[in-house]
Amino acid sequence: MRIGVLAVQGAFVEHIAALEKLDVEALPVRLPVELTGLDGLVIPGGESTTISQLMLDYNLASGIGNLAERGLAIMGTCAGMILLAREPSDPKVRPLGLMDITVKRNAFGRQRDSFEAELAIPALGEKPFPGIFIRAPIIEQTNGSAEVLSRLDNGTIVAARQERLLAAAFHPELTNDLRFHKYFVDIINGSKS
Ligand code: GLN
Repeated sequence: MRIGVLAVQGAFVEHIAALEKLDVEALPVRLPVELTGLDGLVIPGGESTTISQLMLDYNLASGIGNLAERGLAIMGTCAGMILLAREPSDPKVRPLGLMDITVKRNAFGRQRDSFEAELAIPALGEKPFPGIFIRAPIIEQTNGSAEVLSRLDNGTIVAARQERLLAAAFHPELTNDLRFHKYFVDIINGSKS
């Protein structure tokens, strides 16, 4: 299995390391040609305005959109989640428009309002998942076939799945808990349908 990690900006190194711990071949993607032959793609956290602009500048956005329509599995974390959404949450961001979720950028406030929370994610089992939220977005609403995977105690949606698309407001790559990445690998394998 080969999973690409969009490597134009943000926390791509940590995603590559997490996937390698699962014995997956993980490759940085900076050029459209590097999208060829992938079974999955990760869009990392970082700065969604920057990643959005660089995806257009490097001619990656349309290629990713086409592959997603043909069934490429994509996981977006934090800024990556903002980029998966159907509608822009901010006029400065041009999302890929793939997932039926409405998101809000910087929903918890400024950088100093970053926090950690033990998350209930039933799809990963009973043990809580360590959620690291860094100037994080939220999912305001899931629509269509998008389903909620996790909520904070106050009901705020922080992870969702729509078939082969997976979105998290937090940073699973910054923990030692590999279950979220494993869940993505299982989606690609078709063992989590
Ligand atoms: N605040 C960032 C944005 O809107 C997301 C932060 C992150 O990815 N950690 O793009």
